Amino acid sequence: MATDLRVSLTDRCNLRCSYCMPAEGLDWLPGDDILTDDEVVRLIEVGVRHLGIREVRFTGGEPLVRRGLVDIVRRTKAIDPTLELSLTTNALGLARTAATLQAAGLDRVNVSLDTVRADTFRTITRRDRFHDVVEGLEAARDAGLVPVKINAVLLRGINDDQAPELLRWAIEHGYDLRFIEQMPLDAQHGWSRAEMVTADEIFGHLEREFVLTPVDEPRGSAPAELFQVDGGPATVGVIASVTRPFCGDCDRVRLTADGQVRNCLFAREESDLRAALRSGASDEELADRWVVAMRGKRPGHGIDDPSFLQPDRPMSAIGG
Ligand code: SAM
Repeated sequence: MATDLRVSLTDRCNLRCSYCMPAEGLDWLPGDDILTDDEVVRLIEVGVRHLGIREVRFTGGEPLVRRGLVDIVRRTKAIDPTLELSLTTNALGLARTAATLQAAGLDRVNVSLDTVRADTFRTITRRDRFHDVVEGLEAARDAGLVPVKINAVLLRGINDDQAPELLRWAIEHGYDLRFIEQMPLDAQHGWSRAEMVTADEIFGHLEREFVLTPVDEPRGSAPAELFQVDGGPATVGVIASVTRPFCGDCDRVRLTADGQVRNCLFAREESDLRAALRSGASDEELADRWVVAMRGKRPGHGIDDPSFLQPDRPMSAIGG
């Protein structure tokens, strides 16, 4: 059973990364459909008490734009102080909130940053906010939200030649860098298997400047393959969801901002906990629905199969 719950708190975002959202014109989920803070916390509690959830990662859209975030973190930690709480964020505004989030019970952050060049950042995200991300990263480290991890996506012809400089910068600043293969989850359906930058290419770029040695530890359910850089202690990770899928070891389950349980990023079916919750279901009934949703999990995401169909929801409305 899945023990790692990804909770999307909103589908809205203040960046417009080209591999995730179109430049303009993506409809938001209707406001009434979005779970209230109380509903989010109740469903997390059902997951913890009835389904063995041990880790909760808040995501989105951009979770920092959710007004009740600090309170949701505090109330989630109160369910069980041994829960591991993390946040996947673009770090805009994190400089102001990192210490408060840490005090509320947040343990770690994963910050998305694909380049350390301000002009490339603007090209990819369509916003001129590179320096805010850098400030957010520093604030996270200073607040003890460590290890601070950075997630990077490489795009052909845009930043695929920047992998070594991003790694060098991350190591210099004490952040753990992971490259993620681009997946078919963009709202505009622009992904192409032929265009995406593969893990093999990423290794090729990095190995021109660094010696990578596989970390000698069992990977477990971790999505990243980890490598020591130049003998360590620094490491770099590669999450090869497309070319080296790790579905058999996946321990994740997702709750969307509008209360749907998804057993896989690429699932084409969802289970509606919001409707059940709003029509008065007990915790046990909610847990039963959740278990049934998890039983339907397929053995693999099938991206490389000719019959693969991209899910209707884009990444921003699922929660990455
Ligand atoms: N706004 C937050 C952020 O930027 O981290 C959280 C949501 S974002 C959807 C979560 C992660 O998904 C980010 O690291 C982002 O780079 C990644 N992502 C989005 N679309 C992707 C795609 N098509 N392929 C791979 N990763 C993607």
